[in-house]
Amino acid sequence: METDILIIGGGVIGCAVARELSAYQARITLLERGPDVASGASKANSGIVHAGFDAKPGSAKVRFNVEGNRMYESYCREIDAPYVRSGALVLAFDAEQREHVEKLYHQGLENGVEELAILEREQVLALEPNVNPDVVCALLAPTSGLTSPYELTCALADHAAVNGVQFLMDTEVTDLIANNSGFRAVTNRGEYTAKIVVNCAGVKSAELHNRLSSVQFEITPRKGEYYLIDHEIKPVFSHTMFQTPTKMGKGVLVSPTAHNTLLLGPSAQDADDPFDVATTAEALRAVREKAAYTWPGVSLRNVITTFAGMRAHERGDDFIVGATQGVPGVYEAVGIESPGLTAAPAIAVALCGQIASENKLSRKASWVPAPKRPKAFSAMTAQEKELACIENSENGVVVCRCEQVTEAEVRSAIRRPVGARTIDAVKRRTRAGMGRCQGGFCSPRVLEILYEELGAPPTDITKDGGEGRILAGTLAEFAHKEDA
Ligand SMILES: Cc1cc2nc3c(=O)[nH]c(=O)nc-3n(C[C@H](O)[C@H](O)[C@H](O)COP(=O)(O)OP(=O)(O)OC[C@H]3O[C@@H](n4cnc5c(N)ncnc54)[C@H](O)[C@@H]3O)c2cc1C
Repeated sequence: METDILIIGGGVIGCAVARELSAYQARITLLERGPDVASGASKANSGIVHAGFDAKPGSAKVRFNVEGNRMYESYCREIDAPYVRSGALVLAFDAEQREHVEKLYHQGLENGVEELAILEREQVLALEPNVNPDVVCALLAPTSGLTSPYELTCALADHAAVNGVQFLMDTEVTDLIANNSGFRAVTNRGEYTAKIVVNCAGVKSAELHNRLSSVQFEITPRKGEYYLIDHEIKPVFSHTMFQTPTKMGKGVLVSPTAHNTLLLGPSAQDADDPFDVATTAEALRAVREKAAYTWPGVSLRNVITTFAGMRAHERGDDFIVGATQGVPGVYEAVGIESPGLTAAPAIAVALCGQIASENKLSRKASWVPAPKRPKAFSAMTAQEKELACIENSENGVVVCRCEQVTEAEVRSAIRRPVGARTIDAVKRRTRAGMGRCQGGFCSPRVLEILYEELGAPPTDITKDGGEGRILAGTLAEFAHKEDA
């Protein structure tokens, strides 16, 4: 297949780039190895829109973090993704950590972060009464925020798709070859040729870069594991609560999420397999112990799941964004670990501006606005719910009891421009299965709706792609086998 621009990777960076480029006259195809967009780090992170005080001054991380943070609120409004300006605190528990907090304050000022302040113990306790009373002071960063990383990524993909970008899932690029007319991408589903390639392949971005360039990059996958606590308990903290960072990252945080659940984590351990996101008892134990330092009353009674995400840590410890050195026509976003979610809007604007100007792309006469999502049933007033049920009786059928997700919402997620094709893809778009029972009740009905909408045999529906199936066969098939 031939296209003008090939984007590799459907994480938040690839989808933000696709959306930005969809404003230009070009045929654009995005290839994603997973069964859905947001299959990598963009589905499993802390969801914090970082203020930008902790990245090294002068680095690409700082530039894109601070720019991205400033863009976030209007960006999320434009594409209809969640955003909450919750603020963050970095806690100090002794004199040495106070020094570190003061250093972060001055570094933040140098990085251009606004509204920073150092709060003393009583002020911290007044803001967050559940914090460890041993706290001596904290850095307050009111510009820190929260988003839902997978909902954001799906919204970006939808906006790109309504503007003509083609999304191909389950398509893994295994080789990239330069030829006279551009590039050839070899995949598990055939070959794609393009004049321009944009490498947004997360943990695999260095490997793809190294196939074309003599300047070699090296990514170490770095796993982060979490506990997620149900929103049934009253919010324990209103701010994201950081401890002072370590050389492995920002440390263990205790944070509300954009959907009022509570996150404890992440751990940070280097891994061999970039796709092994299994959690481990050891890392989770460490998370629990470190979280208890921030929140002495830590309770795991309401933990509803544990999960892990993989950071793409590049050896040079900075984002690499721009044209691939010595390979005209190839552009890249390599080593996009934290704060990559925050930086995504700014990275996409910078990268696409460069691609458009270097390749003389013309803007389309019109750019279709991002499609609006139906208001979540759970967020409606009683009167809105009544009206919604009169308009469409499927609004009156609750599929997910924990998160109050209706049949209408599930069907709408499947019918979106980049629609859900798996049970977890429905979960990421609607929250059906995100709650206390983790899909115990709703998965069979979601599966049923998926095959009704897609016309696929129920035995083809998967939880999240791959070879595993939820249904092994039909009753008729089993009866037939028994008879035989
Ligand atoms: C534990 C953890 C916590 C974090 N917390 C935060 C935070 O709070 N705030 C913040 O700003 N940032 C945070 N980050 C960083 C943020 O999640 C990432 O920077 C961001 O998601 C990177 O997006 P991406 O699109 O580059 O990568 P990904 O989301 O990993 O996307 C890359 C995509 O490429 C696909 N792919 C890979 N190889 C191929 C191939 N050969 N062919 C086709 N497709 C391919 C993958 O399947 C994947 O979907 C965190 C990261 C982790 C892991």
